[in-house]
Amino acid sequence: MSSEIPLYDIVIIGAGPVGLLLSVCLSRWGYKVKHIDNRPVPTATGRADGIQPRSIEILKNMGLKSKIFAHHPARVHEVAFWDPASQGKIVRTGTWASCPDFLDARYPFTALLHQGLIERVLIEDVEKNGTTVQRPWTITGFATNHANPDYPVEVELKNIDSNVTETVRAKYLYSGEGARSFIREQLGVQIRHKDPISHVWGVMDGVVRTNFPDIKMKCTIHSDHGSIMVIPRENNMVRLYIQIASSTDPDFNPRKTATVAEVQEAAKKILQPYYVTWDRVEWYSVYPIGQGIADKYTLDHRVFMGGDVCHTHSPKAGQGMNTAFHDAINFAWKMHLVESGFSNRNTLETYEVERKFIAETLLNFDNKYAALFSQRQPTAAEVSGAVHDSGEAEKNPFVEMFKANCEFTSGFGVAYNGNIFNHTSEHSFQHPLLITDSPKLRSGRILPPADVTRVVDANVVHLENEIPFNGAFRLFVYGGLGASPKKGQHKALSDLAAGLSKPGSFYSRFRYENRTRDTHHDSDNPHSRFFSIALTLAAKRPEIEISELPELFHDYSGRIYADDRRDLKVLDAKASAHAKAGLTGEEGAVVVVRPDGHVGIAVRLVEGNGTVEALEGYFNGFTTQSARATKDSGLGGGVDQVRAQL
Ligand SMILES: Cc1cc2nc3c(=O)[nH]c(=O)nc-3n(C[C@H](O)[C@H](O)[C@H](O)COP(=O)(O)OP(=O)(O)OC[C@H]3O[C@@H](n4cnc5c(N)ncnc54)[C@H](O)[C@@H]3O)c2cc1C
Repeated sequence: MSSEIPLYDIVIIGAGPVGLLLSVCLSRWGYKVKHIDNRPVPTATGRADGIQPRSIEILKNMGLKSKIFAHHPARVHEVAFWDPASQGKIVRTGTWASCPDFLDARYPFTALLHQGLIERVLIEDVEKNGTTVQRPWTITGFATNHANPDYPVEVELKNIDSNVTETVRAKYLYSGEGARSFIREQLGVQIRHKDPISHVWGVMDGVVRTNFPDIKMKCTIHSDHGSIMVIPRENNMVRLYIQIASSTDPDFNPRKTATVAEVQEAAKKILQPYYVTWDRVEWYSVYPIGQGIADKYTLDHRVFMGGDVCHTHSPKAGQGMNTAFHDAINFAWKMHLVESGFSNRNTLETYEVERKFIAETLLNFDNKYAALFSQRQPTAAEVSGAVHDSGEAEKNPFVEMFKANCEFTSGFGVAYNGNIFNHTSEHSFQHPLLITDSPKLRSGRILPPADVTRVVDANVVHLENEIPFNGAFRLFVYGGLGASPKKGQHKALSDLAAGLSKPGSFYSRFRYENRTRDTHHDSDNPHSRFFSIALTLAAKRPEIEISELPELFHDYSGRIYADDRRDLKVLDAKASAHAKAGLTGEEGAVVVVRPDGHVGIAVRLVEGNGTVEALEGYFNGFTTQSARATKDSGLGGGVDQVRAQL
């Protein structure tokens, strides 16, 4: 074993959305990242452009939203449908909310700006935290050869300009290489095409002059002359997607192409009776795509893949970049918890299980939805029924499909199945205090959003977004409606604090070794880098005195909230954040939320040691018994920056 071979925690190949977001997370958390991309410069313009509502929340939670939104993305709130009318013209047949009310999204719109602007923000963040994306470098070989047992993966890299080569060793190799992946090919992992149909799309970004009234809306236009999708964009631009060929065409050719002039001519015909001309074209591409999923996302739990390497989608639903984001954060927190000594190595298996399931569901869904649409368009009554959530409308399969489609395309359909992290009735650990039947607290889904008042500064904040994505599990404690927060009056809360503080509890086991560490300004991780607590009390803000709460919560002073805001969705509720979490009785609850915002388990908050016992059982399912690597250094430096931006 040569001591000169550089060692890294991870080598990331590819600096598209998946590679960059992964690099952001791991660089912030202090990992040593080798990150390369084979292109000499980052994406300048074009390619993917849609950030869906759930992805906006994720970016917000990471402190990246404001920087991306500084580029003034277009915001799509409604989708307009246009269909053929007489004499070769088109007519608007309806408009829908792109993210209807029933989804309860913080940001009920799609933000549209080109991939390069998003990548720029991610690159800046990566660099701020000590990682450089090296270009133009490529990968020429790799092997999990365990020559160095701590850094079992050996990776061969080459500079494309100079042909200089480098060998490095790493704990992990992650391929974010996009649809044509060297690593996937070397591993012999097959892409399975869900649908034999391939499509060739012409994509054109530019500034147009037109009298088409919906040019600032997302539109699906069917006409006697073909179909087109209109997507408004940043800087007064508009994107047009035209399907140039599909394998159902008699003369289908996946390499079929079209010039800018041909696509413009087609667009002019489709948009009749409206005119359209181009002031400028910023980007044009012909983009052949099929719906495919990789059989495996890893073979040995050391070399992993994600993003377009593992799944490709038609651009219709705008999912490529968004699915890539989810892949990145799912892998990031799991790798982090394994490498920092918190969870067992076998938990990495859940990456493929969770992410492949979502990709499959998405593609199956997309196919079914497209088929339903090709039969007929929904009626206005059906759409209205779906949006307003009436019981009658529920019975209509079209409405059900519409709702499921909105959930999926907005990103709220990401619902992971039961596993070691997402507790269900199939889990080997069961306890009478587990909340198993709540329609609001469903394990594997995200926590419902709620507004609350932060006690220390009386700011109204988004509860679900208060704890930043920092790799820690979040314990959302809801005090319940039955007990006052006054000193000594909330026995269940005191018992919870006492149970967590006991030496040997799942919470104490992972406390910082250095108890004298200055955590005065750290409300997120005052005791442990693996846990954050947010306490919400059903009381008015002036009724809550932090010094009267059990001592454990004093260190979380910035994460204590009064549930005293009204919410239109639960107007009659005494405490709206409790009600939105389905907690309308006397009892409170502890909701464990995974680092990525998905609910892991919910436990009733009761007097005695039952609540901690139930939480203990859950965490024992995947945590290590010793706090091997619970370093005093805490999180990587980026966390302060995240906090500052929230
Ligand atoms: C030409 C083109 C047009 C597209 N148009 C659209 C669109 O209109 N709408 C839409 O929704 N999506 C579009 N996409 C897809 C969208 O860009 C992806 O879904 C999204 O970027 C997925 O992110 P990713 O990080 O997985 O992959 P990518 O964004 O593809 O990033 C992969 C990166 O890895 C690099 N790389 C590849 N191989 C190596 C290697 N061996 N060594 C080093 N680096 C490597 C690549 O250069 C690239 O920078 C388009 C993609 C392409 C390629």
